[in-house]
Amino acid sequence: MIETDTRGFAIQVDDLDADWLLSLIEDSETQSRIAERRKLRYAAQWCRLHLVESHDDEEDAPIGGHGTPPVAVFAAEPLGAALQTTTHAARQLMSDAWNLRHRLPMVWAGVESLNVPAWRARRIAQATAHLTQEQAALVDRELAHRAATCGTVLIDRTIAQVIAATDPEAPQADEELSKENWEVRIFHGPHTGPGRWTGTSILEITGDTHDLTRIHDQLTRSADLGAAIHDLATSSGGGRPARTKLIVHADLSALSDETIGTGSVERLGPVSMARIKDWVDHSHVTVLPVLRMDRCDAVDRHDPPTWMREHVILRDQHCVFPWCHTDARSCDLDHITPYLPLDKGGPPGQTNPGNLAPTCRRHHRNKTRGIWSYTREPDGTYTWTSPHGRRYAVTPCGTSGMVEPCASDERPRPT
Ligand SMILES: [Zn+2]
Repeated sequence: MIETDTRGFAIQVDDLDADWLLSLIEDSETQSRIAERRKLRYAAQWCRLHLVESHDDEEDAPIGGHGTPPVAVFAAEPLGAALQTTTHAARQLMSDAWNLRHRLPMVWAGVESLNVPAWRARRIAQATAHLTQEQAALVDRELAHRAATCGTVLIDRTIAQVIAATDPEAPQADEELSKENWEVRIFHGPHTGPGRWTGTSILEITGDTHDLTRIHDQLTRSADLGAAIHDLATSSGGGRPARTKLIVHADLSALSDETIGTGSVERLGPVSMARIKDWVDHSHVTVLPVLRMDRCDAVDRHDPPTWMREHVILRDQHCVFPWCHTDARSCDLDHITPYLPLDKGGPPGQTNPGNLAPTCRRHHRNKTRGIWSYTREPDGTYTWTSPHGRRYAVTPCGTSGMVEPCASDERPRPT
């Protein structure tokens, strides 16, 4: 194994003794902090390049916290594409960089001097994002000399102390706000990790401390956790069967022999036929006919019929914007060439599978505002063009990096 040191010299790693290896590990940590600091610096500069007079978008929260200069709502998309990550991740990077620069200058100074790793500073930035500028400044002062080592507990305790000192009524208001945010969320798919059975999921509950502690104790006291969870699941709901909607893709003829083959469940992945048979036997099942995926006929109306919507969802599977993973069933179906009503001169056949694509609400708004544009190629690949003239190709398998820059007269023109 060969590596290069900071001077560019080749190093045979297998030959290193412990002392030399530790020196190189320390150096690699420094290089890592430099790289992460560079990303935050670039993100802050990206914000600076996209300043606007005021934040005027009702659907999206401002990028920075209280007291930060307003930044254009859709500035995150080109940054996300350049970083080959989601818009959400890019937006979070911008938010953290902007809040560190404008609300947490002492913590930011620690990042600049490489004493504080960027990920720890970003954790403080996110934890203080909802505070006023004055409160954030107090947290900044309290944590500045401990930012290099502080964990979540110290951050949260410092924030609570600052809020209690500056706003005596806040704890009661927070209590009400907390109740409004109580929720139950379930995660499937990628959260289960590779190699784990598809039927494993993660349940996250945010609620009353006392009640949740009782549920936790009840489950963890049992010697058989699986049985305890099953008992809880079957004893709740007043005996009514659970209403869970799973969309299963399987060859029904294979259900007669559960020892062969696999099917798949949307958002979960491959599942054994034995498991599908078990679910089908104990559930209300609606069998949908197989869709002909080569069907391409059109209708003369704006909204697609059910078969066409299902066709496009199954074909593309997710939002077709670069690196967006939003499930196609949660997306809008966008007319790639905008729909023009027939009575206003529009041509017939505008609503057809070839002119429809799933786009999440945010990326749909990007397109309809003319900030990004895209086309669908004959092979089903989507080619997106950014406001900076960069092009990206998206297929059901994912996004490839930048394909090519385009000429300036081909760039989208925001409306
Ligand atoms: Zn999207």
